[in-house]
Amino acid sequence: MKKGITRRDEDFSRWYTDVIAAARLADYAPVKGCMVIRPNGYALWERIQFSLDQMFKETGHENAYFPLLIPESFLQREAEHVEGFAPECAVVTHGGGKALEERLVIRPTSETIIWAMYKRWIMSYRDLPILINQWCNVLRWEMRTRLFLRTTEFLWQEGHTAHASAGEAEEEALRILNVYRTFAEDYAAIPVVSGRKSEREKFAGAVHTYTIEGLMQDGKALQAGTSHNLGQNFAKAFDVTFQNRQGEQELVWATSWGMSTRMIGAIVMTHGDDRGLILPPRLAPTAVVFIPIFKGQTGHGEILQYAHQLAASLGKEIPSRIDARQEYTPGWKFNEWERAGVPIRVEVGPRDLRQGEAVLVRRDTGEKITGSEEGFKERAAALLGDIQRALYERARRFRDENTHVVDDYEVFKELVTDEGGFLRCRWCGSSECEDQIKQETMATIRCIPLEDASDEGPCLRCGTKARGRVYFARAY
Ligand SMILES: [Zn+2]
Repeated sequence: MKKGITRRDEDFSRWYTDVIAAARLADYAPVKGCMVIRPNGYALWERIQFSLDQMFKETGHENAYFPLLIPESFLQREAEHVEGFAPECAVVTHGGGKALEERLVIRPTSETIIWAMYKRWIMSYRDLPILINQWCNVLRWEMRTRLFLRTTEFLWQEGHTAHASAGEAEEEALRILNVYRTFAEDYAAIPVVSGRKSEREKFAGAVHTYTIEGLMQDGKALQAGTSHNLGQNFAKAFDVTFQNRQGEQELVWATSWGMSTRMIGAIVMTHGDDRGLILPPRLAPTAVVFIPIFKGQTGHGEILQYAHQLAASLGKEIPSRIDARQEYTPGWKFNEWERAGVPIRVEVGPRDLRQGEAVLVRRDTGEKITGSEEGFKERAAALLGDIQRALYERARRFRDENTHVVDDYEVFKELVTDEGGFLRCRWCGSSECEDQIKQETMATIRCIPLEDASDEGPCLRCGTKARGRVYFARAY
């Protein structure tokens, strides 16, 4: 058997890496900063993709694909954008054995190439809105990397929409924020706080960035999805105008938004325990694993057949598999599937077969429940629903217990260092205070909630009058 999993309270960062290895989600690639997503990790990504993709389509979006290579000059057209991304870009200088006339960047994100195309496709208000999403990889040269959380190349979806008015673009950015929030909470069982990013933290080239932020078990925040209202910045940079209903030429309004394989890191760090990964049932590629328990030399065929019968009764809605490998003991298999985070393990032995029963074991609590053959599917479905809710509730309790309202900067410093968590504080809105707080505590403003601006009082650092509270935390 492979080496054990470090305990969370011993070394959270090693625990994280151990869980990923034990669950066989990913491995390090030969090129520093890159990762190989292994079948277990990729199957989880496919579930994430499938659920999000459905939600995008239900809100009117279509998928398309744009190229990996972008002419370097494109990136330079939007000033803030190039400043934000140029340092992270990988540049292709040669092709076919010759130096290229124009260097090409490997996309760090696709706004520029997409807006170069939108210029060709948008003439009048009749061509709007354009609601496009693409599933792809992007590359950002990172110095310090962590599997799933920060890798040089990663997979994501990026939405790029074009609209006829400022109001529509804003509405779209918020609609997607809501999609991300729903996905995080209802599928990944990760409670999030949402709101706007500060000027300092917003996307390079955006007017506003909206974000959802989760709280990981080590007390650090993790940005899990962002949605940007780009205003007319990219339309200006790429000269994309349309004829409005009044017959006048106007610049097009834009949004972009993304969620990435980082979400897998968020799932690991929100739900995992000292035994390994715990997957929320709605995203688990295998929701139920059957482990036949053979005693003695005979009757294997009947037990296996019974396991197949139970598995078949679950149908397609509850993805299941049977681990019939003879070369491993049941105990070894229990351990393996536990590490992989499968929500329910079903043990099927000779006695279960005789009595028409099976033992269901919950991954999150270890609780054992006897289910009968009759109504097995309903039993399993109800249990999966319980697990999904229990995971969310546990994470929400943790988040709430680790969210503090703080008005004193000294208390703030202590809490940030000793406990972490979300700190809800008043902030005057100046980048100076924000920078100073970051320098002194390594905590950043995670988001400015959209509601709740009634709470008036002095700024945490400078004492100037401020309205409402923002979320501070140290973050991944
Ligand atoms: Zn201040």
